[in-house]
Amino acid sequence: MIKFLDLHKINERYRDEIDSRIKKVLDCGWYLQGEENKVFSNHFAEFCGVKYCIGVANGLDALNLIIKAYGFKDDDEIIVPANTYIASILAITQNGCTPVLIEPDIKTYNINPDLIERKITTKTKAIMVVHLYGQAVQMQKILELAKKYNLKIIEDAAQAHGALYQSKRTGALGDAAGFSFYPGKNLGCLGDGGCVTTNDEELAQRIKAIANYGSDKKYHHIYKGINSRLDEIQAAVLDVKLKYLDNDNQRRREIAQYYCENIRNAEIILPYNREEKPIKDYLSHVWHIFAIRTQNRDKLQQYLEENGIQTNIHYPTPPHKQEAYKEWADLSLPVTEEIHRTILSLPMSPVLTDNEVEKIVEILNKWNY
Ligand SMILES: *Cc1c(COP(=O)(O)O)cnc(C)c1O
Repeated sequence: MIKFLDLHKINERYRDEIDSRIKKVLDCGWYLQGEENKVFSNHFAEFCGVKYCIGVANGLDALNLIIKAYGFKDDDEIIVPANTYIASILAITQNGCTPVLIEPDIKTYNINPDLIERKITTKTKAIMVVHLYGQAVQMQKILELAKKYNLKIIEDAAQAHGALYQSKRTGALGDAAGFSFYPGKNLGCLGDGGCVTTNDEELAQRIKAIANYGSDKKYHHIYKGINSRLDEIQAAVLDVKLKYLDNDNQRRREIAQYYCENIRNAEIILPYNREEKPIKDYLSHVWHIFAIRTQNRDKLQQYLEENGIQTNIHYPTPPHKQEAYKEWADLSLPVTEEIHRTILSLPMSPVLTDNEVEKIVEILNKWNY
């Protein structure tokens, strides 16, 4: 069986280094908001090309904290792609704000920049871009709109650690960004973790305080905060793995390139990006997910399973069709719905072997619906 994602194998490569950094935390006896957080936050800020990085408990909290720190609430509207993972939207509704769902571009699966302006109202406060599947969003038009209407740009970078737009990394493309270090992400820890990156010093300080019970000094509370911190052990593990992130992303690109050049099946739609071929603009994509589409998705998934290949669906049901958001049940978002009906994620990770990738392609090319 070729696994969709072999997390054990991914972390085993760095076993000795991870062991010794965890031992260091145990030896030192300091488990929260210590040296490891400082070291990793500095390294990750430098990696993204921003001034500040604040470690938090998970990716959802990172987005939630950004919205809280800006003070967006009640009827404030935040623009967000309709086909994102539900966490982007939860962060908005947890603050009482209204998500304004925008259809994606059927080719890139990222927010369609041409559909944003007509949805901007006097209540709009921010645009949340999501670099879905690891591909950096086309920012140009969105940056112009944000300037024209005085909106904040919040990046959901949970799937795109290390991706570049022009010469900047995700995390540095808007006003503030939320990352997740969930184990399966391109940079993942051994449990939950996340961070916020920004160049805004005041925002960084506010987020730091809100994430620590709203406290700027010990026992001095200036906000009604929450508790959302990155464990020292997780920061230590992340600091080990960050050194290898660019290499891992490069291996993902090689696999994606092989898939794109060798999958030949009229029933299968390969990922596209603005240069027609992902390889041409290859640094903009870190291939968190390699998603193909087909009209007979469930049959293809079953066929692959029978042939020893594990796949996944990101995601089977769009947020507006979830019970949690039944108020949207009548919304019609045909592009989003088409993507969710037809999308399928192939195995993708830096530890897939050439043999495995070749076998996956061979089996896909034999599929005869
Ligand atoms: C994983 C993910 C999140 C949430 O991250 P957690 O650490 O699981 O809370 C948010 N947005 C997107 C797009 C994600 O893929």
